[in-house]
Amino acid sequence: METLDYRVARKRMVEEQLLPGGVRDPKVLKVMGSLPRHLFVEKGMQDQAYMDRPMTIGRGQTISQPLIVGLMTQALDLKGTEKVLEIGTGSGYQTAVLCKLAKKVFTIERIQSLSLNARKQLYRMSTNNVEFRMGDGTLGWPEEAPFDAIIVTASGPEIPVALKTQLTDGGRMVIPVGPEESQKLCLVRRKGNEWTTEVLSGCRFVKLIGKEGWK
Ligand code: SAM
Repeated sequence: METLDYRVARKRMVEEQLLPGGVRDPKVLKVMGSLPRHLFVEKGMQDQAYMDRPMTIGRGQTISQPLIVGLMTQALDLKGTEKVLEIGTGSGYQTAVLCKLAKKVFTIERIQSLSLNARKQLYRMSTNNVEFRMGDGTLGWPEEAPFDAIIVTASGPEIPVALKTQLTDGGRMVIPVGPEESQKLCLVRRKGNEWTTEVLSGCRFVKLIGKEGWK
């Protein structure tokens, strides 16, 4: 049974971080306002899970700040019918948010221990519309492509071509791009064989490491 404190912290996260930060999609607000984010962070740090900052999840990686999760999810404009690819499973929190808003989620993580922990947590929550893979997400998941939406939660020097080509016609991809110190959060849209890129904001992510990322 969840304590009242976590429910209050989540409500405050929505009211004091997500809404003022520009997350307006009622479906995204509802999901983030009900999903137990504290179950995706280390036990001794659960009381900090709803604070306005990223947190360590081990192996030099982080669970993104709630506002970034909200803005990236909102940018994908999910209606509930989509097949989504996520690169960078991390803690599995963003995966869980996507599972509530899309039809099916495919998620790739390069660090085995993180992938296994996320898998355990999502199964504990009886999530049944997700598939996990370990490996280099910069190459996408060709056997399952195309995807209506792709979300990349680590930043590379440029947008991986493999991911662009695995979008459906009309598909959207949200991805941080740029040098290590600071990046731009980009929204890529595919129309036929043309891709447009809109910059949504500045951001700072851990590195996307792989064939089409950092070496
Ligand atoms: N979305 C995650 C969450 O909710 O906890 C946060 C992800 S963390 C900011 C970025 C993750 O991307 C790390 O776990 C890192 O290991 C992973 N990563 C980096 N390069 C990758 C690659 N080429 N393929 C798959 N995962 C990668």
